[in-house]
Amino acid sequence: MREPLCISSKRMLTCPPEMSVSTIQDLNLVDLEAVSFLILDLSDWQVGYQQLRRVRSHVNPDIYLKPVLFRGSSEAVPREVLQASDGIIRPDETEVEIEFSSWSARLEAINVRIDGLKKISKDGDSNIAFKVLRLIETRNKEFKPIPSARKLSGHIYPSLQPLFPKQDIGVLETLEFLENQKLITGQFVSRAYGCTHCGCAFLNFFEICPDCNSSDLYTEELIHHFRCAYVGGKSDYKQGQELICPKCDRALKHIGVDYDKASVVHHCNNCSNVFQESGVMTSCYDCWRETKPENQLIRDIQTYNITALGQNAARHGMDSLLQTILETKVYAISFDAFKNFFRLEIARIERYKVSISHLVILRLDAIDQIYSTLGKRSRQVFDELSEAFKAALRTSDLFSVRDETIFLVILTETPLDKAELAMKRLEERIIALLTANLKMECRVEREIYPIEAGIDLENKIELFLQTHAD
Ligand SMILES: [Zn+2]
Ligand SMILES: [Zn+2]
Ligand SMILES: [Zn+2]
Repeated sequence: MREPLCISSKRMLTCPPEMSVSTIQDLNLVDLEAVSFLILDLSDWQVGYQQLRRVRSHVNPDIYLKPVLFRGSSEAVPREVLQASDGIIRPDETEVEIEFSSWSARLEAINVRIDGLKKISKDGDSNIAFKVLRLIETRNKEFKPIPSARKLSGHIYPSLQPLFPKQDIGVLETLEFLENQKLITGQFVSRAYGCTHCGCAFLNFFEICPDCNSSDLYTEELIHHFRCAYVGGKSDYKQGQELICPKCDRALKHIGVDYDKASVVHHCNNCSNVFQESGVMTSCYDCWRETKPENQLIRDIQTYNITALGQNAARHGMDSLLQTILETKVYAISFDAFKNFFRLEIARIERYKVSISHLVILRLDAIDQIYSTLGKRSRQVFDELSEAFKAALRTSDLFSVRDETIFLVILTETPLDKAELAMKRLEERIIALLTANLKMECRVEREIYPIEAGIDLENKIELFLQTHAD
């Protein structure tokens, strides 16, 4: 059986004697592959949490899914940090060895599930939605959100948060996306407003003047004098400490007997308008944009469980949504079929000599971002992306997708200038869609190669990736 590994920001406290001990500075993530679980010292919780994030941001499933325990006192440690690990060992535990062995048994179940996952790519799991799905699958529990003022989204899923490289965006959207694909299922916890522009949960709600939209209002109670039926603002009645009716000059003594407070009245300090029904506006504490409450996002905050479909996808790989859409709409073909056609095209060109066809390799670096920032709306964007490809390609062109972000096209019987033109139009349309409409940073990189005798497809892709390395 694999042994646990203790990591301490200082020298380790009290580990069982046979246990490997290391300091954080020595922690080499690759070593984690061989251990059964990792114990991170919480005596400086920021350092401990940082280490957990380092582990979770790795791409190798044997590393990023590794069970991690925190060891230390929970005082002064934020709840979302405490709950981010797979468990906590108290430092004052006297029967340390017994506790360790009980943890070993419990965490071994997670390791068995990790061992059951298929290695999808030699480069590891880079898609964040897929990593989230795999973490959910191996933990076999319900994922509950907790409210927090330390996150702009207002809610945190403590054990999922460390998977995300940017601290503030993406978790809710990624979960929404997975739920939409029926890979996880959500149960209602609460409903929350979020900024429609940036998703921030911290919104200010305030009354405004219906005439001039100013929020500089003076609001007072509206008083109804029963005896003479006069209705007016409290300031109309106020004389020193007393309330005197301005119409009949009688003193108002007992609420419910002499008078009641019917409602409130607003005075606009900007345009002097007096009104009872004010408008309501909201403003975002993060991006400062203002809009009416009905235009803001209303989200269901949910707990999540994995579905049977999700378990299957976590173990064997998730077909990319974009790929599925492209296959049905633009008739993208598998990479293997593409390689075959590519060989045939070379043979055809060699035989007829006069033929001119071109190979296009195109890379779009925004795909992961689309999943994590758009959630449910990814499908719509992918539909539009596929429309862009459809418009740029003819039915005689062949098209395939590699690793979600690399697109391959054979433009048959197309001279270079026509190929350039078609790809330039495609690029402009993609950039317009992602940058102008969705305000996303996006880069389209592409190369066009003539298809001729001796050209090797895999070499060209490799060369392309080297030339366009991040
Ligand atoms: Zn006004
Ligand atoms: Zn009166
Ligand atoms: Zn905002």
